[in-house]
Amino acid sequence: MYDLVVLGSGPGGYAAAFRAADLGLKVAMIERHSTLGGVCLNVGCIPSKALLHVAGKIRTADEPDHGVNFTKPNINLDAIRHHRQSTVDTLTSNLALMAKGRNVSVFHGEGRFDSTTSIIVKKDGTEQRIEFKNAIIAVGSRAIKLPFVPYDDPRILDATSALQLERIPKHLLVLGGGIIGLEMATVYQSLGATITVAELGDQIMTGADKDLVRVFEQANKERMTFLTNTQVTNIEATAEALNVHLQDKEGERSLAVDAVLVAVGRSPNGLKAGIPEIGVALDERGFVLTDEQCRTSVPNIFAIGDVTHGPMLAHKASHQGHIAAEVIAGHKVDFQPLAIPSIAYTFPEVAWVGLTETAAKQQGTPIKTAVFPWSASGRAIASGVTQGKTKLIYDDATQRVLGAGVVGSHAGELLGELTLAIEFGATLEDLALTIHAHPSLHETVGLAAELGAGTIT
Ligand code: FAD
Repeated sequence: MYDLVVLGSGPGGYAAAFRAADLGLKVAMIERHSTLGGVCLNVGCIPSKALLHVAGKIRTADEPDHGVNFTKPNINLDAIRHHRQSTVDTLTSNLALMAKGRNVSVFHGEGRFDSTTSIIVKKDGTEQRIEFKNAIIAVGSRAIKLPFVPYDDPRILDATSALQLERIPKHLLVLGGGIIGLEMATVYQSLGATITVAELGDQIMTGADKDLVRVFEQANKERMTFLTNTQVTNIEATAEALNVHLQDKEGERSLAVDAVLVAVGRSPNGLKAGIPEIGVALDERGFVLTDEQCRTSVPNIFAIGDVTHGPMLAHKASHQGHIAAEVIAGHKVDFQPLAIPSIAYTFPEVAWVGLTETAAKQQGTPIKTAVFPWSASGRAIASGVTQGKTKLIYDDATQRVLGAGVVGSHAGELLGELTLAIEFGATLEDLALTIHAHPSLHETVGLAAELGAGTIT
């Protein structure tokens, strides 16, 4: 009998299992794949960043830089694939060692709840029953499929197959302008593909403020075509091409491309693994419903990560994992973040945290913004990265920082300070009075705060 069984070994699952083991519980973790780490480590966050690292090198070599010109990059796809895979292998094998070091029993196989105190794990025709006092559902999410897409055609990619870099198409249509689609578009563009992004909504990177997204679009307008308010209604596969039918304000048209990456979002795995059958309450889309302690409608069963409401992000999953494990160990803790950072690791990066200007306007929250343009930053000018800005969103009356958005080179790295500022209830004055190193990009946070507070004009 285990104190805790965790179903799924993604960033939510392993964070929960490890924290619970550290707190002295007897823990088992079940994973259907042969490696631990879930989507994030195997086919998500980590391999995509390994490829974006390489894409960044190619992009640098592509652009003449103040007296330094590179010859055309010599691209070795095998070596790039090797870098991606060895990064994944290092991290997933470290996880296995960490599980072993903590005496977490790992079961590889398909898990299915049998009751509110047992799970059956199936592997290669054999079955094993595992009894538990508590369980954490950490089964993640999967890519949404569209009915008209001919998925059996090898020219149709999803995020997982796109990461394999089987071949670089001449013209890639990315269906969906979210973070995952745009990161993969950035990789394929750097490797030589022509990119068209089709997005149903009125902006790419939904969730980020439009003024930040505009900087990204401007920086990439020679490299990618962005079609917003555009619906893909059908894809016809012929021997020569994939004919993509597009519907926008002007009417219908068709675009012949060599490959299509479908990146239209992800849906939760809550309807699987016997979860509804044991009485765990779900919403109509299959998200498991939880309270602030990550507890489901069944008191000894918790749920975390992509299978629960909130942003589908690895760091949200792992924080929930810690909370659920601590609650099970008897601690009085809640999952109540004020700010969950989002980063698009594109060129330039687009990063935001807390309240956005768009959301504030929609909710009628009285806010003001303070924006520092990177064209006035010494570090940005010296580094040739002036396409960027740092924006603070703050309460009009108290000047408390409620949100922030940054676009520019390494923008995501600036979110550390900004997330802390929001969680600590910092005001513009707090940020303005904090000494920021000169010249640095994070200095733009202090300068934006000084602009908002009126200490500089
Ligand atoms: P998952 O990581 O999905 O793990 C769930 C695990 O449960 C899987 O290993 C699955 O095999 C296992 N499982 C499911 N059902 C069963 C069963 N019945 N029996 C046994 N095992 C089962 N997020 C970020 O924060 N930053 C990024 O940069 C980022 N980049 C991404 C890039 C891509 C291409 C993709 C696809 C996603 C990216 N994400 C990123 C999202 C991130 O991967 C997810 O938010 C995160 O993995 C969710 O963690 P999780 O623990 O909830 O679930």
